Amino acid sequence: MAEILVLGAGMVGVSTALALQARGHAVSLVDRGAPGRETSFGNAGIIQAEAAEPYGLPRNLGTLWSFATGRSNDVTWSLRGVAQMTPALWSYFRNSAPRRHAGISRTYAQLTARATGDHAPLIEAAGAGNMISREGLVQLYRNRAAFEADAADAERLRRDYGIRHRALSGAEYRREDPALRADPAGVIHWSDSWSCNAPGCLVHAYAKLFASRGGRLLEGDAASLAQSGGGWRVTTVAERAEAEHAVVALGPWSPRLLRSFGYRIPMIYKRGYHGHFASARPPLRPIVDMDNGVVAGQMQAGLRIATGAALVSRTAPADLRQLDRGRAALSDMLEIGARVAEPQWSGTRPCLPDMLPLAGAAPRHKGLWFHFGHGHQGFTLGPTTATLLAAALDGEESDLSRALAPGHRF
Ligand SMILES: Cc1cc2nc3c(=O)[nH]c(=O)nc-3n(C[C@H](O)[C@H](O)[C@H](O)COP(=O)(O)OP(=O)(O)OC[C@H]3O[C@@H](n4cnc5c(N)ncnc54)[C@H](O)[C@@H]3O)c2cc1C
Repeated sequence: MAEILVLGAGMVGVSTALALQARGHAVSLVDRGAPGRETSFGNAGIIQAEAAEPYGLPRNLGTLWSFATGRSNDVTWSLRGVAQMTPALWSYFRNSAPRRHAGISRTYAQLTARATGDHAPLIEAAGAGNMISREGLVQLYRNRAAFEADAADAERLRRDYGIRHRALSGAEYRREDPALRADPAGVIHWSDSWSCNAPGCLVHAYAKLFASRGGRLLEGDAASLAQSGGGWRVTTVAERAEAEHAVVALGPWSPRLLRSFGYRIPMIYKRGYHGHFASARPPLRPIVDMDNGVVAGQMQAGLRIATGAALVSRTAPADLRQLDRGRAALSDMLEIGARVAEPQWSGTRPCLPDMLPLAGAAPRHKGLWFHFGHGHQGFTLGPTTATLLAAALDGEESDLSRALAPGHRF
């Protein structure tokens, strides 16, 4: 048994704490605030079994042009943001080449295939079943050609990875989900994905489970992390906590902390926003509006519309263009309702240029572990990569854990 500090209590850090605890380690989970209040709070809440292939950077000129000119609502950007991220974006572009992307997807698909199975025992033990729907996720198309192309691609994903789906005409799907106000051109229903109606509450429930099993939750600033004797220490409000190992699971804040230990981790920061709306007729399943770059799903707080990526500097003020455009465009299909009054949330997807999360030993510091960079699917993958990291910490490696290890990547 080892003493371990886990820094960061988002979905990734809380899952890490649980996985290490399950192996008999004494774990302290440190965050500057309550668990699950940052990126893991405001996401679209989908446990994405369908996401076998990570989002690559589109390489066709038409799509890049629509991003550049602001015609697409999927991505917005600022000159400052893109300039700050240029080396990471260039590497992301190169890794998105078809052959490399296919190789990365072979690893990624093994992670997403395990995701619902790895969440299931935690959901049950945390008594959080009432937050989860197992009804799947739909992609909605207004453009028939785009629907047919993606339906053909969905068949490829079924052949290559065994991911199940149904491709339905808009009229057929509308009979199933009467919340739709008009017939879309088509719908792809990914039946194996799950969704959560309060992502932050699920992380909180997992954290409570960790505490109920004897884990310690500490409030403190991870920036105080320092080597101490043969191990690590961090200053928290209650005490100076010391341990043999420290796991950095600070999501988008991880590179900043690691810079002080000499690691320069290139990250693409993809900001997103959400808003809740008092819809009288919420959809049966979360909907990805493929024409307008937003996801809409019913949450405890109302119909949540979550946006795509804004490539802006970390300190840029909120810009709600994508949310406003998405809401307006989606109202042809759904009755959206009035905005619920709430502080404006934004969060940043911590994306690495090779599209794989990092989970493994720091290359140059004994007892220091990296666990971050889950990009678009950290809510999905937290428990899965946590299991791999916990095994690696105990010296049990596999091809999959080696693929996520920092050693050959930084
Ligand atoms: C709009 C949007 C929609 C998304 N939709 C989905 C989805 O449907 N499905 C999916 O799988 N993923 C989705 N994601 C991605 C997912 O939310 C992230 O990948 C995931 O939340 C990352 O989790 P994390 O634990 O690494 O980071 P976080 O949840 O950000 O946790 C990091 C923690 O570190 C703490 N911290 C930071 N700095 C310090 C410090 N100095 N000291 C102490 N603590 C500190 C923070 O307080 C925080 O609790 C979405 C993201 C966005 C933005």
